[in-house]
Amino acid sequence: MFSLILVVSAASSCAAQKNMALSALPSDIRTQVEAALSAAHIGDTDRSRIVEAIGNDASAFALLFHEVRDVMKKDPELLRRVDKSVALPANFVPSDLVKLDGVFPYVVSKKGMQLRAPARDALVRMTEAARKEGETLVVSSTYRSYDYQKTVFERNVKEMGKTEAERVSAPPGMSQHQLGTAIDFGSITDEFADTAAGRWLSANAGKFGFSLSFPKGMEAITGYRWESWHYRYISPAAAEMQERFFLGVQQYLIEFLAELPH
Ligand SMILES: [Zn+2]
Repeated sequence: MFSLILVVSAASSCAAQKNMALSALPSDIRTQVEAALSAAHIGDTDRSRIVEAIGNDASAFALLFHEVRDVMKKDPELLRRVDKSVALPANFVPSDLVKLDGVFPYVVSKKGMQLRAPARDALVRMTEAARKEGETLVVSSTYRSYDYQKTVFERNVKEMGKTEAERVSAPPGMSQHQLGTAIDFGSITDEFADTAAGRWLSANAGKFGFSLSFPKGMEAITGYRWESWHYRYISPAAAEMQERFFLGVQQYLIEFLAELPH
């Protein structure tokens, strides 16, 4: 009996702590943060960790929150949710695609690749920084149209069956590559993680606003097996928010942002 009382009181004090953690947020954002965190598909344990991280540094979170909201206001597509539950329309084509051909510090593996301008600019900054440290980043795949993604996915289904094809590639409309802000680097194989470029990106990409979309061991959350080579440009402020408050998980951050009032 005594131990039961202990358990009950520990549980309720834990719930009280959770609420207290978010009550440290300024009142103008607290309600929307609470609502978005409950609406996003985040398991209880991870949600508690996120709430705790926010509560531990509420003023830093509030500052970043306003920065990220600003990014979303200026560029509504940059942090748009695209995954296995939310698809882009077939006719979605980013309006500011630019070619990567020409004299840039990065190496492209083929001609005619395109990215959205903000992602290309960030890529130039990142590869210049990498080059100063002796690393060359090779860009292997960038923007893909709905139709091109359809071809890739259908080829994979034919070669490996639907279940496996869905682990390693997105059905048309569900690929981050259609946003024009995702980049596949290097060999596009697991070995990339252990190359110098792969290690450099893992340590530094966030500073330039890039985020690893499908980390190791997160298939249940992201819907995709680990892709050490696939980065999405989300802006430096959003990348910092992801690292400091969303357990480093892009899927959590994007789902949370998608639930905020527009
Ligand atoms: Zn990719």
